Amino acid sequence: MASNSSFLIIGAGNFGAATALSLVQHASPSKVTLLDSTPFPNPRAASHDINKIIRDDYPDPTYMKIMVESMGRWRSSPLYSPFYHETGVLRADPSDFSARTLQSYKALGVNTDADWISVEEARKRWEGVFASADFEGLEKVFWNPRGGWAEAEKALVAVIKSAIDLGAEYQANAATKLLFDADGKCIGAQLQDGREIRADSTILAAGAATSLLLYQTSPSNKSLHAGNRSVATGAVSFFARWDDERRKKFKDVPVFKNCLSGTKGTSATSCIDGFAKLWKRGKHVLDFGWNYQIQLRHELYQSQTPVSGEHNNVCSTGRT
Ligand SMILES: Cc1cc2nc3c(=O)[nH]c(=O)nc-3n(C[C@H](O)[C@H](O)[C@H](O)COP(=O)(O)OP(=O)(O)OC[C@H]3O[C@@H](n4cnc5c(N)ncnc54)[C@H](O)[C@@H]3O)c2cc1C
Repeated sequence: MASNSSFLIIGAGNFGAATALSLVQHASPSKVTLLDSTPFPNPRAASHDINKIIRDDYPDPTYMKIMVESMGRWRSSPLYSPFYHETGVLRADPSDFSARTLQSYKALGVNTDADWISVEEARKRWEGVFASADFEGLEKVFWNPRGGWAEAEKALVAVIKSAIDLGAEYQANAATKLLFDADGKCIGAQLQDGREIRADSTILAAGAATSLLLYQTSPSNKSLHAGNRSVATGAVSFFARWDDERRKKFKDVPVFKNCLSGTKGTSATSCIDGFAKLWKRGKHVLDFGWNYQIQLRHELYQSQTPVSGEHNNVCSTGRT
């Protein structure tokens, strides 16, 4: 990208924020405008959350390569490392996902500590929190001690602030449609308050709303629409606040990606402020082996009805 160019970035989630920061750090732009519909961080962004899993265990070598590089930054960059917690990631998965992940580490020549451990061992470790978990007959699970979770919202805010400190401008406003010149080149966007922002390059980082913005821009122009290039899915996150005893117990418990049919779900239980997060679509049952089980029925996801119960409430829905 040419220096002295202007950029409009629509959407200040992870992708928009990191793009803004990279541009002001490396591209000598004349102007970078980062646009989102609310002041940052926007609570509707998928990137906004108490935590997100950080891992490079992915079978796709292209994706793994990017993640291997970014893991280094999570561990040591002054910007990201304050928000990263390397608890490790445990994966119970009957598919070949983890075997292919190992193949990709090998193919890329990446040294990894990721490996299989027996279910028996998983039940014994971490003070036995998985002792009575239903592993549905699996004999081994995938364990990578070099992954973990990040305080997502705080990291997102830090990235946006860094971009602003280096010269990006943040505007709280929604784009209602993209603007094009007579040659069909995108020249900016119209905003909800009726104003227009024009830029040499317009970067769409609107997450799950990208399809909507393309449609709104020109409902009749199908070639512009996302069509089947984008698929919307839903997930529910819910949170439990631990008492002091459980907080201590779960402090070093790894992120648990459970891909088993009956208990499909993910948990990050060692959060700051004593909060644990559990999330997934579909039937969700997590049993940590101390007679404390959380269940969420699929019908409730669909209706988005809050679930009652002492430790159980649906706090946010996400769209990916
Ligand atoms: C429940 C859930 C759990 C997840 N867990 C993980 C995890 O543990 N680890 C992981 O790596 N990934 C996880 N993901 C995926 C990850 O969160 C997303 O891939 C990532 O946050 C997407 O970032 P983004 O910037 O593309 O989109 P978003 O973060 O959604 O940001 C898009 C932004 O665009 C803004 N926007 C939309 N339309 C407009 C408009 N017209 N004008 C202006 N602004 C607009 C939105 O307000 C939003 O702030 C999870 C996702 C969900 C939903």
